[in-house]
Amino acid sequence: MGTRHLALMLIILAVLTVIAGSIAHNAPYTLPRDGGFSHSTNQSESTSGITVGKEERKTHNERPLILVHDVTPYYFDDIRQIIAVLDEYNYSNRTVLFVIPVFDTTHYGDEWSLLDHPDFVNYLHELQRRGYRVELHGYGHTYHEFNCSYETANEKLDNATALLSSLGFGNLTLFLPPAWALNNESLRAILEHNLTVVMPNWLILPNGTRQRIWNREYTWYIGENQVDDRLSVALHDYRKASEEGIPFYLSVHPGVVNHGGGLDFLRTFLRTICGQEKS
Ligand SMILES: [Zn+2]
Repeated sequence: MGTRHLALMLIILAVLTVIAGSIAHNAPYTLPRDGGFSHSTNQSESTSGITVGKEERKTHNERPLILVHDVTPYYFDDIRQIIAVLDEYNYSNRTVLFVIPVFDTTHYGDEWSLLDHPDFVNYLHELQRRGYRVELHGYGHTYHEFNCSYETANEKLDNATALLSSLGFGNLTLFLPPAWALNNESLRAILEHNLTVVMPNWLILPNGTRQRIWNREYTWYIGENQVDDRLSVALHDYRKASEEGIPFYLSVHPGVVNHGGGLDFLRTFLRTICGQEKS
């Protein structure tokens, strides 16, 4: 009885392991619709690429989201150049603009406050009307700004949301911490403001749950001769994330992606992605 019984037990154990493994593998990827930033301003949901049926568990057909960091009048010209590339591929509905209310108070005081740059604010409104989404990227974007106390974070968030709201940008739902710097106290303040935190590997929803994402930047001061290399890495990552049902976000910085081969990378990346979708 010993060996046959043992063999049977081993087979049952193996089957259970496989089942458990597949459940564990799939569980984090049954994404709520918010995982693709299904956001309803005036964007049409049908063109946002995120109309995933309930029966369809994975979201691998979603096009990448582009996250533009450091949106401030300080980078006005650079941002126009980035938008021009995104517009070539009608990518407004899959792009989030992370705005800094008062850029770099350490070095410039109030000089770059949105309140004093109505031309830039009008530009943001125009982009928003065309489907671009406006969200929050710190308050003053000082060094590791949100590695701070709960009280300081609360005050900064109150000021940031009030300033943006006074300019017509209400209903913010996302927060991207400058330099990804956070701690448990500041995180609590952000979530209490009903904002979802965007990190390189996770979204942290207001209720504290985490959702896996793949959010990377491939254009940190790249040379013109690095475009092909960076593209193959990015497209490999995109395919891999898609296979695993993980939403893919591409981060870019104005003033950085505008260097060397950065915009060429962005253009070719979008052309490849949009081309794949049609075929
Ligand atoms: Zn930033």
